[in-house]
Amino acid sequence: MVTLSFQDFTFDAKPEYVRFNFLTLYYFDVPQDEIEASGIVEVRKKELVFKTEKQYVAEHALNTLLQKHFPHLINRIKKNETTYIHKNSGIPLLGTLYFGIVDRNTNVIDLKPITGCNIDCIFCSVDMGRRERDFIVEKDYLVQETEKVVAFKNTENIHIVINPHGDPTLYHDLAPLVRDLKKIKGVKTVAIYTNAVLLSKKLVDELAVAGLDQCSVSLHAMNPEKAKKVEGAPINIEHIKDNVRYAAKYFEIVIAPVLMMGINDAEIPLIIDFAKSVQGKFPVKIGIQNFLSYEYGKKPAKELPWNAFYNYLDELEREKGFDLHPKFDIVPSAKLPKPFQKGDIVEADVKCPGRLPGEVIAVAKDRCITVLKCPQGKQKVKVKITRSKHNIFYGFAV
Ligand code: SF4
Repeated sequence: MVTLSFQDFTFDAKPEYVRFNFLTLYYFDVPQDEIEASGIVEVRKKELVFKTEKQYVAEHALNTLLQKHFPHLINRIKKNETTYIHKNSGIPLLGTLYFGIVDRNTNVIDLKPITGCNIDCIFCSVDMGRRERDFIVEKDYLVQETEKVVAFKNTENIHIVINPHGDPTLYHDLAPLVRDLKKIKGVKTVAIYTNAVLLSKKLVDELAVAGLDQCSVSLHAMNPEKAKKVEGAPINIEHIKDNVRYAAKYFEIVIAPVLMMGINDAEIPLIIDFAKSVQGKFPVKIGIQNFLSYEYGKKPAKELPWNAFYNYLDELEREKGFDLHPKFDIVPSAKLPKPFQKGDIVEADVKCPGRLPGEVIAVAKDRCITVLKCPQGKQKVKVKITRSKHNIFYGFAV
């Protein structure tokens, strides 16, 4: 018999099917008749035992199962189908806001290793409830492609921000990702943006060992009932405070509430009081964000005009004696080449569905293009580019 062992998979045998769990958060189910037909005679936690004596027969049987079922990977939080983007997927990591690398021509590079969130904020700019599909990017692929972008920029002053459409603590390989990014020549700091609900002392320890420099915590209220209302889920504020205090011993903390007038403005002074009380390696910063309304985001409040927002910050800063205008080291840097411009017509290969109904992710010239309202079932599509800013490409089929 042949036993195959796995690092990224675990298995749960049920009477009707075997659940293949992938990177903790994802799974697909294989019916028992297919398990038997593939020659699997025993299912262990991290191993599959095949009846055959030949390794290649077992591997072929496994590959056949994976080819059929892996495209139907499910994110167990919202049960969205999920696309795994890896080195051999033929999907580049530049071009979309959903996953991969976003470079806005500065020394700050955003990385998006995952989509999907564990909470449901009332102001979420990407409104997870409208998103039908999730993405997860292979850690080594993300590191490899980030290294190329950093090398292109040719500076020693790159700040990497892990800032997905969702929460980075859901990414199974978060600490190894931080560790590997810190090894890239030219990377000065690595930061994460998190809602901190899943932050734990164990994860803080792992991130500290990996070399994390900064953790931005989106905390929008100190009152648990108010936090639940704003973040759409029960929030254990004491747990978050405890972990923020602990994390502040190891890396810089930026508390980043979103200000929504009439909803959580009374909570902001309490958040500042908490920030002042934290004794850490560095002083805790506060980066209050003005609520902004996005086309596909939620809209619980009106946007505050920018001059009113800055007046609010100035007044609160005076009242609290706390810097509410933190400075970040952002400077222009080399621009990646843009293979197409707004208005171009491009022939592209359709790779997978997008996050919204009718959307697909298509690929041309080593860039992803998010194609809106694409006719279904096509393998190739002609796309008119409607946005090309910062190497983020949108278009529609012509
Ligand atoms: S934590 Fe961020 S991604 Fe998650 S629901 Fe809130 S705003 Fe959206």
